[in-house]
Amino acid sequence: MQNSFDTVFDKIISGDIQVDPVFENDDVLAFNDMNPQAPVHVLVIPKKRSSRFSELSTKPVEDTGRFFAAVSAAASSLGLDGPGYRMVVNNGSDGGQEVEYLHAHILGGRRLNWPPG
Ligand code: AMP
Repeated sequence: MQNSFDTVFDKIISGDIQVDPVFENDDVLAFNDMNPQAPVHVLVIPKKRSSRFSELSTKPVEDTGRFFAAVSAAASSLGLDGPGYRMVVNNGSDGGQEVEYLHAHILGGRRLNWPPG
């Protein structure tokens, strides 16, 4: 069974798994999803670990703010502000979360359907 503190994203943050960052700052690392669902599909992960979105209510609000500001900056740096994009955070099993390390998906480059499945 996967140790929740030894996920693939923990290994990316520790450097055990290499990725090509598309955006990075003091708070986050962003890289292309290996199984893209849109022409642009980037994952943004915080350098300070949380397991999932529902934990954020117990964390310092400044960290949450900095995470979302960094997701916004990453999307801007990808040129998505004009055409638009979707930011998705899957939470828990019904939400479709597979990796127990907080991450935001940035999806863009095509018109996205609504509602999601
Ligand atoms: P979620 O279902 O929200 O937990 O999303 C996890 C995402 O991580 C999926 O879209 C996977 O394709 C992606 N993923 C898993 N491992 C890697 C990896 N090593 N590099 C890039 N993307 C990954």
